Amino acid sequence: MISRSPSILEDLLASLPDLRPQIYFKSSLTALSHAMEDQVLAGVDQPVVIASFQRERFYRQEAHRYLRIADRTEQVYVLAAPETDFANRSDRYETIAFDKTDALAQEWHLVVVSAHYAACLICRERQVYTAPGESSLHLPPDQSRRFEGIWTFERSVACKAAELLLTKVVLYRPELVDKVSAAQTVLVDNAQASFSHVDPGPFAERLVTYIQAGQYKLLKAYRSIAAQEQRERLVNSITSAIRRSLDPDEIFKVAVQELGQALDACRCLIYRCRATDVTVTLQHESLNQGVESLIGQRWNLADNSLFQWVAQHQEPLCMPHTPADVWLLGQEEVAVPTEQMQRWAIKAWLMVPVVHQNRLLGMVEVHHCGDTAHDWHESNVGLIEAIANQIGVALIQAEAYANLEDLNQQLAALDRTRSNLIAITGHELRTPLSTIQVCLESLSTEPDMPEELRQVMLSTALTDAERMRKLIQDFLTLSQLESGRIQWHLEPLPLQECVDLALSSLRSRQMDGTLPEITAQVSPELPLIQSDGEWVVEVLSKLLDNACKFTEPTGKVLIQAQPNGGKMLEVTVSDTGRGIESNRLETVFDRFYQEEGALRRSTGGTGLGLAICRQIVAGLGGRIWAESAGKDRGSQFHLTLPISPSEKEEKPIKTVRGSKARR
Ligand code: ADP
Repeated sequence: MISRSPSILEDLLASLPDLRPQIYFKSSLTALSHAMEDQVLAGVDQPVVIASFQRERFYRQEAHRYLRIADRTEQVYVLAAPETDFANRSDRYETIAFDKTDALAQEWHLVVVSAHYAACLICRERQVYTAPGESSLHLPPDQSRRFEGIWTFERSVACKAAELLLTKVVLYRPELVDKVSAAQTVLVDNAQASFSHVDPGPFAERLVTYIQAGQYKLLKAYRSIAAQEQRERLVNSITSAIRRSLDPDEIFKVAVQELGQALDACRCLIYRCRATDVTVTLQHESLNQGVESLIGQRWNLADNSLFQWVAQHQEPLCMPHTPADVWLLGQEEVAVPTEQMQRWAIKAWLMVPVVHQNRLLGMVEVHHCGDTAHDWHESNVGLIEAIANQIGVALIQAEAYANLEDLNQQLAALDRTRSNLIAITGHELRTPLSTIQVCLESLSTEPDMPEELRQVMLSTALTDAERMRKLIQDFLTLSQLESGRIQWHLEPLPLQECVDLALSSLRSRQMDGTLPEITAQVSPELPLIQSDGEWVVEVLSKLLDNACKFTEPTGKVLIQAQPNGGKMLEVTVSDTGRGIESNRLETVFDRFYQEEGALRRSTGGTGLGLAICRQIVAGLGGRIWAESAGKDRGSQFHLTLPISPSEKEEKPIKTVRGSKARR
């Protein structure tokens, strides 16, 4: 079993009680170690060099130096706690893998003893207490590492330290005992050598160089902390603007101001846009003094190849000062919008897209307008990207809110419609029901009623019962249509057959011969329609029913059809009847609209017919509308139906089965 002393530093302090340990930051130790190693590399003598690293990975960073040191002297010992392939080896120099539970794992040593000089660094890492919140300073963790120990050129101390370390070497690698004794001889032989042979100048110079390098690293770290802080502050102020308001305009206002200030940009723009937009009117901008404003300008997007590039790639684009007409972006050539740049004195251009789920929502632009060349700093692009992300969130939130408002309004409107519908339906059903009730009551309570009156009562009750049946039927049809649950069976059909079916159903219902004269001008040569025959017959029947209902028996009804120039057939049902006033031409399609009001109904009907027609025609992909020259001047109902796409290839094959509602 190898016996391990607790610590080289402790052993050294125990044997040389006059030594006063000091605190060193890690960066100082790095500078000192490098300066000591360089001293060996610059010298001509062959010193004993012993270096102990806490971990293999720390050694790896310096391994190349030890290879070079091994060219100068044979007495090189490197100790480290192995992590991957560090092991006891005798290659160009000796490596000693110590147990990671060894106190050496907490220490950092470098000892150099030569005939001309000696130096040693014997330190132990101190556990540093981190105050709560201290880590938020984002200091590189290495910078806060502290060590306690001795650094000196004093030969006696260096020799003692070397002796202690060599004892460790032999403990781990007993086979090296002879080589180590040779090293110890060097130590003893050189015991009287004096440091005064060495010029401390080069050492001090190297030390300063390394300290400067460390300082520069620190400066860079501080710069990145400052940039990070600025970024966080900006993102925070924009996030809180988003929290305060759901209005994108307000958020853009804050964002463009803050961003312009943080970047000290000549011109900064934020706008909403889609990838397909041709232009956008600019409303949010921040400017440096002397730069022309773009507020209110229609900003070209479709013709700006920079915008197009960003919209397509959804990535930031940083164009430095580019005097040529074409700019090489990686492998791609992008046309430079020279005219736009000259007009607005843009010398360098930065665009960062606002994207949500691959959808372009907006753009942040920064323009450099001075005469000097300008390169966009990577950290600025990162900052703008962070802000563009926040803006994206704000826009999506605002959109969701607006949709919610819309939905609320729609729901409120639906609720009003539902209440109206319940009231109207209730009224429409109650009216015939009361008539039926009165008739039946009279019939049952007055057995002596004259036969003639009995017949009147019975027929009135039957008529109203039929009206109720129709009303309920129409109401159910309309609800079904409005719910969107209808399965349309679209197929190529001859319109003429639908018209014939509607006419024969009308005639079978009106056997008393009070119908006006009906003429159909529907050529069998017309192209086929792509439709659901049963529903087409239903619409035509209702329109013909109405035309006959509102036209004197002496009047005329005409049904015609012709292609309307596009991909539709247009069907027109005209009559010479009572006509419709111009301000009612749309209202007639409302549910329960009847000109004379529900109670003074002279013509029968439910007031739902045209509402049903509009739903059906829309479902079949067409349009329906009414025209009339005014009261008593007849009406025309027009509807369009899509022509079958197969029309050119095949001729009619289907036959129409009959009206939907009357099956
Ligand atoms: P109904 O015919 O059952 O009353 P509709 O919805 O079919 O219900 O028609 C609604 C209203 O539109 C009718 O009450 C009538 O006032 C008007 N209307 C419909 N067609 C015509 C027409 N051809 N001529 C004049 N008015 C019409």
